[in-house]
Amino acid sequence: MAFDNHMHLGRLPHPSRLAQALGQAGYAYNAVACEPEEWEPLWELWLSEGLKSKGCNLVLGIHPMAVQRAAETHKQGLRGLRQVLERDSNFQVGETGLDRRFPEYSEGGLQEQWFVFQAELALELQRDLQIHCVGDYGRALKLLRQVGYGKGTAASRPIFHRFGGDMGTARQILDMGGLISVHQSSLEKKSSRAAIACIPAERLLFETDADESFCTKFGGGLQVKNEVTHVEGGDDAGDVVENTVRRLLQSLRDVREAAENLQNLPR
Ligand SMILES: [Zn+2]
Repeated sequence: MAFDNHMHLGRLPHPSRLAQALGQAGYAYNAVACEPEEWEPLWELWLSEGLKSKGCNLVLGIHPMAVQRAAETHKQGLRGLRQVLERDSNFQVGETGLDRRFPEYSEGGLQEQWFVFQAELALELQRDLQIHCVGDYGRALKLLRQVGYGKGTAASRPIFHRFGGDMGTARQILDMGGLISVHQSSLEKKSSRAAIACIPAERLLFETDADESFCTKFGGGLQVKNEVTHVEGGDDAGDVVENTVRRLLQSLRDVREAAENLQNLPR
């Protein structure tokens, strides 16, 4: 069975039909909703498509890109996140983290505040925490230590999604009891490839991080078709869903094989 650690089901075309087709293909996943408006729609899919019985899980949180908008509805965001997470004791927190490409990246800024808040919540509720980090692994790790990670409790594991760090970073994550999630982009940097080659297999996860751009990337007709056939149902939608399933399976298989090849290199 294929397991995708991180994908954005709600941003892919025809999510209900896609969820059904993925179930038939034996493809399970952690579906991420990382903006407050996405939480309820994904929860509805979770229920209507019986995602739990298909071996899936949900990841709910606030992305560093969304912190400015989240701050406008600050109280609602805080309360709402806890409420959706309490609906199932396996739901994970995230994706949250730091990203230097987006506003409010500065030390002590909004990104950091929301990251710390979600890390504390994950510890309190004993949930795994999916982390998005671009620009400063050192600061992310330091903040995690400050809130209490790495003290020998395994109740909440930090999962570094779309890993792009080096060996030193990977070691610190592993020492903290964390996991490393490998995406196609993780294999582009030499220093990340070297790190992935040395990570114990049981601490590695694989992911597509598929969202709306996943379909565009695979080219041509798909995006246009999706816009034309906005209604669920109909043969065009069926084609789009079938294509998406095939591409997800392929993409996940490729990344897993590439990581396994790195691990099998003689050292
Ligand atoms: Zn993501």
